[in-house]
Amino acid sequence: MNVALRGWVYALARLVGAAAVGALIGWSVGSFWAGLAGTLGAYLALQLYQLYRLDHWLRNRNRVDPPDPGGLWGDVVVQVVRLHRRKKFHKGRVVRLLRELRRSTASMPDGVILLDQQAEIVWFNRKAGELLGLRRKTDFGIRIENLLRHPEFSRYLAAGQFAGAVVIRPKVDEDHWLSFQAVPYGVGQMLLLVRDVSRQTRLETMRKDFIANASHELRSPLTVIAGYLETLAADPDIEPELRAPLLEMQRQAERMTAIITDLLELSRLEARDEQVEGGAFDVGELATALRDEVMQRPIHPAAITVSIDSDASLVGDAGLVRTAFANLVDNAVKYTPAGSSIALRWWTDGQGGHFSVSDDGPGIPAEHLPRLTERFYRVDPGRARATGGSGLGLAIVKHVLQRHGGELEVSSSPGRGSTFTCHFPSRRIAAARPALFFLNAVPGTAHGNG
Ligand code: ADP
Repeated sequence: MNVALRGWVYALARLVGAAAVGALIGWSVGSFWAGLAGTLGAYLALQLYQLYRLDHWLRNRNRVDPPDPGGLWGDVVVQVVRLHRRKKFHKGRVVRLLRELRRSTASMPDGVILLDQQAEIVWFNRKAGELLGLRRKTDFGIRIENLLRHPEFSRYLAAGQFAGAVVIRPKVDEDHWLSFQAVPYGVGQMLLLVRDVSRQTRLETMRKDFIANASHELRSPLTVIAGYLETLAADPDIEPELRAPLLEMQRQAERMTAIITDLLELSRLEARDEQVEGGAFDVGELATALRDEVMQRPIHPAAITVSIDSDASLVGDAGLVRTAFANLVDNAVKYTPAGSSIALRWWTDGQGGHFSVSDDGPGIPAEHLPRLTERFYRVDPGRARATGGSGLGLAIVKHVLQRHGGELEVSSSPGRGSTFTCHFPSRRIAAARPALFFLNAVPGTAHGNG
């Protein structure tokens, strides 16, 4: 028999015993029922008294020691004391944990803000307060967008894609650049990490400006040199032993011009982060134009096939997209031996629109694939130099796609050729196929050096 049951059996036995004794005494004095009723009454009074003691103790638990009535009441008191102790222990642990958490987040170098489902501020640490000028008393419960009032930040929150961070210059402190990274949790709640990235942003801007300025400054002298070299190479009276070095100098000057043109293009793309708007244009016509351009060259591949599996148009900057696609086609031509075939394909599905350039050339070993879009990265530097590649082509493609919310996928295996696919999100796809009248006429966008 367990302890609780035993207690109840004893209590019942005591009640029955007391009732029997009371009834017996009553019977011996000639009043059986009075004896029984008296005993039960006294028993009830005793229970009420114990209940009163328990109630008194529970109400004044912090000042009064627990009563010790024994029996069933004693068990109840022991259990209440135990429950109370356990609650106190857990509460202490939670309070300690909370204090530790608050202390550690306060000393964090980054700002942390907790937002509820309505993006209202629930809590923030000291650093977030400093960076955003938040005040504890007034700013709790305020929507974060109302405090920051920055269109790009609002767009970031509304888009709900929190893989990356957004960098903005908040109105409260325009000298600083802040990076916001949202981390969703629970049901619609969010943790917002705020970091001061002013130094990195300034360095990055300096780097971009330097490259843009250096490329710009180098372009004019190079144009003069290339011009003189061309004139000299065309001179029929030139000494025969100078002809070969002159041609080589001309070739190198062309390479340098290609690198500088690509660097300027990349700087132009990097100067802005936001997505391009643009209009809808026909990918089929663009692909056909690119094919015709390549096939008119004196040295060209055996065949270029164009498969247009969707009527949908692409929405974006036609000039930039042409640059990107032309780079991919140019690479396929440059890095495959004469006689190979190239396939261009455009199709759409639930994920969006896709344009791929496949070749049956030598392919690219797997270890190079993750680094292909890095600036000046070349799989085979010697060969790439021989073909006149700047090493910037795929970096440009990547940037163009980023500005359209898309991405580049490369699949290749040595000996089996390569496929470069540009993926565009669904919002970049328009159902109709409008007439294309401007693609071939965009000045300065054709890109001939991969
Ligand atoms: P580049 O201007 O030198 O062509 P890219 O950035 O366009 O530079 O390409 C980077 C490297 O990727 C190239 O140097 C080349 O080694 C490799 N590559 C690009 N496209 C292909 C292709 N279709 N087949 C094989 N290798 C390629």
